[in-house]
This record gives sequence, structure tokens and C-alpha cells, in this order.
Amino acid sequence: MKAHHQILIIGGGTAGIMVAAQLLRQKNAKDIAIIEPADTHYYQPAWTLVGAGTYDYDKTARPMSAIIPKGATWIKDKATDFDPENNTVRTETKGDITYDYLVVAPGLVYDFSLVPGLGDAIDKGVVCSNYTDPKHTWNVVKNFKGGTALFTQPTTPIKCGGAPQKIMYLAENYFRKSGVSKKTDIVFATGGTVIFGVKVIAKTLMEVVDRKDINLRFHHKLVAVDGEKQIA
Ligand SMILES: Cc1cc2nc3c(=O)[nH]c(=O)nc-3n(C[C@H](O)[C@H](O)[C@H](O)COP(=O)(O)OP(=O)(O)OC[C@H]3O[C@@H](n4cnc5c(N)ncnc54)[C@H](O)[C@@H]3O)c2cc1C
Repeated sequence: MKAHHQILIIGGGTAGIMVAAQLLRQKNAKDIAIIEPADTHYYQPAWTLVGAGTYDYDKTARPMSAIIPKGATWIKDKATDFDPENNTVRTETKGDITYDYLVVAPGLVYDFSLVPGLGDAIDKGVVCSNYTDPKHTWNVVKNFKGGTALFTQPTTPIKCGGAPQKIMYLAENYFRKSGVSKKTDIVFATGGTVIFGVKVIAKTLMEVVDRKDINLRFHHKLVAVDGEKQIA
């Protein structure tokens, strides 16, 4: 199949959908298509609440067909290659698609191989991440009986810079309710030098950290995980 679209968007996530919706309001945008392979769109910001047991995972899912803005064409496929000199994108099953304008919004890919041991440990036992399986996070938080609760984040770009802290604050709240906070040491280890990049927010967050008695460790980059021995 050979097809042409005035505006071609790769990725029907938050970015792709919002760009499409904005462009559809402009009269010069006459033909918008979105290449997106997934059947389901997940509202990922709510995964923080799922991890804290306050929101239902199933409610974060919506059929992709309901999310693609009316007026845009959904090409259910995966972009596999670019040929920018010929304004062409290759797809897995539907062949080449040409465009006048291209928007590239396929999101982030997680690469656990950058931290030895993490790929084996993640989403199993006591190792959890809201980025990958917030339901497992809630299981870990719910079943935590005290000890060191280590929250950390990679030094690479991540989806939502605040997410690793948000789940920590919510977990701390739950630990107080479940009665384990007195025998718990919450540690937030980050490779950075500040709690948050925006000064005014950092100031408030430092007050929260103090109030919740969180043990802050700056200059701490996660370099390896031993899931069996529970060592980071
Ligand atoms: C736990 C968590 C909490 C968060 N909290 C917040 C928050 O409080 N506030 C906030 O603003 N943001 C938050 N975010 C971040 C927010 O969800 C992301 O910034 C946003 O989803 C990024 O949108 P995106 O479209 O770039 O990527 P995504 O939403 O990941 O979408 C990418 C899309 O591209 C598709 N795709 C991938 N590869 C291809 C390909 N080759 N061809 C075609 N399509 C492809 C995928 O199937 C996917 O649908 C959070 C994220 C997480 C995980």
C-alpha cells in the first residue's frame, strides 16, 4: 500500500494525540494521519495513584479508537524506518507512507540493560516501578512490613520527573496508616544535586521531605541491582 498524508504523526500517545487535536483546529491542516500500533491507550499519570492503591488500573485504559481525534486517520501499524529525503516513513505491514509534514512522537523506550541486574529484578519480589507495572508497586507497598524502603530513579531522561517522588510520598502516607512507619527508613537516592529542578517547587518539597523524615541521598547513581540479595 502506498499512501500520502499532508501531516503524518508517528505515535498515538499523549503527544501525538494532542498535536493532532491542535492541528485539527487549524484550517490549513487538511489531512492528518497517526501511525499507532497499540489497541489501548493508557493514561500514565494515573499510574502513580494505582501504585499507591488509590486508583483502579483498568480505569487508566481507553480504546485507542476512542482517543484518536475525530477527523484524523488512524493507521494501525508500527513505523519501522525513515526516508526523509523522500518524505517517506516505512511501516511494518502497510508499506511506505509519504507526507508533507512529519511529527515524530513514539515516546520513550526503557533500557534496563543500562543497570546490571535491574532487568532481572524489575517487577518481581520487592522490586517495583510505576513506569512498568503499577499494580505490582501497590502489592509491594501493601505488603511492606518495615525496613529500608529505597526509592530511586535513573540518571537518564525519564517520563515525568516527579513520578519517583510522588509514589514515595504516597507510600509514606500508607506506611503510617498501616502502622509500619516506626520501623521504616525511607531513602530517596538520586544522581542529582537537588530534589527538583524548579527552585520554588524544590523549596516546598524539602519541607515535605523533612516533615516525612525521608533520608535524602544526592550524588547517588543506581549502577547495579542484586534482586535476590535485595541490594542496590
Ligand atoms: C508513572 C508515571 C507517572 C506520570 N505522571 C505524570 C504527571 O503527573 N504529569 C505529567 O505531565 N506527566 C506524567 N507522566 C508522563 C506522561 O505520561 C508522558 O510524558 C506522556 O505519556 C508522554 O507522551 P508521549 O506521547 O511522548 O509518549 P507515550 O504516551 O508513551 O506514547 C507513545 C506512543 O507511541 C507509540 N509508538 C511507539 N513506537 C512506535 C512506532 N515505532 N510506530 C508508531 N507508534 C509507536 C506507542 O505505542 C505509544 O502509544 C507520567 C508517566 C508515568 C509512567
